[in-house]
Amino acid sequence: SIPLSFFGGIGLASKRGILIKGSSFIEALCEIKAVVFDKTGTLTWGRFEVSEIVPLNGFSKEEVLKYAALLESFSNHPIAVSIVKEYKDIIDKTEVKDFKEISGCGVWGKIFDKEVAVGNSKLMRQLGINLEENINLTTVYVAVNGVLAGVIKVTDSIKSSAKEVIDNLKKQNIKTFILTGDNKASAYYVADKLGIDEYYFELLPQDKVEKFNVIKNSLDGKVAFVGDGINDAPVLKLSDVGIAMGALGQDAAIEAADVVITTDEIEKVYEAIKISKYTRKIVV
Ligand code: ADP
Ligand code: MG
Repeated sequence: SIPLSFFGGIGLASKRGILIKGSSFIEALCEIKAVVFDKTGTLTWGRFEVSEIVPLNGFSKEEVLKYAALLESFSNHPIAVSIVKEYKDIIDKTEVKDFKEISGCGVWGKIFDKEVAVGNSKLMRQLGINLEENINLTTVYVAVNGVLAGVIKVTDSIKSSAKEVIDNLKKQNIKTFILTGDNKASAYYVADKLGIDEYYFELLPQDKVEKFNVIKNSLDGKVAFVGDGINDAPVLKLSDVGIAMGALGQDAAIEAADVVITTDEIEKVYEAIKISKYTRKIVV
């Protein structure tokens, strides 16, 4: 039978916006040896802002932004939201046909007679567009009929409590990792600022699953994954404790997770571990 105080722990956590889906996860949280974090929306706010638009190959700034905003109006990725917000004109969604979202890469669609792609270097490579990569920000490329029309630079910022959370985990001898779909420079920037042990970048959702397994097999003990839900359901399911943050409204993530944090406060991850350890102390 389940000791009563496990229910106490679950109740206490739920009052703090941490929904734990059963007492087995309280025990698992006590035995965590590593925490693997998604970057965007998890360690960072995931609220991007457009900082620069660089038109190329005869296109204008206005055209680059318009093509990007039209396509991104069909996506709810945080990068998409920032680009749509930057475009001040009215968006006529009927101008877009055959819209496709390519997970971990970007978006694609037809705007009148043109094929437009908006996304990262991976997506551009798929279209046969070569890029010189000397980037240090999250860079969004806009291609029209296979020609690079411009680059939109977007910035995101690290959550104010993230450093404290990582420091606290380290004090408990818990290793930390980043798995991100974003580029190397952005991954390094966040890992370095926070003192994260290891980071892996340019990962598609299935690559995250593979890397997570590699990390798990290299460690002796339980491994948690923390993600904001966008594309993260497979790893949330796979991990010993899958923690979905700020994921309200994201049904797939809520279903796949073992712990749901209802806000975007990263400090709740450490609080979940603390409450679990406290609860087990009472049980023992
Ligand atoms: P993360 O692992 O950091 O949460 P995602 O898997 O959501 O990132 O996305 C990985 C990368 O794919 C982003 O950094 C971005 O370069 C690109 N990307 C994904 N969706 C879009 C989109 N709608 N528009 C532009 N770029 C996108
Ligand atoms: Mg994310």
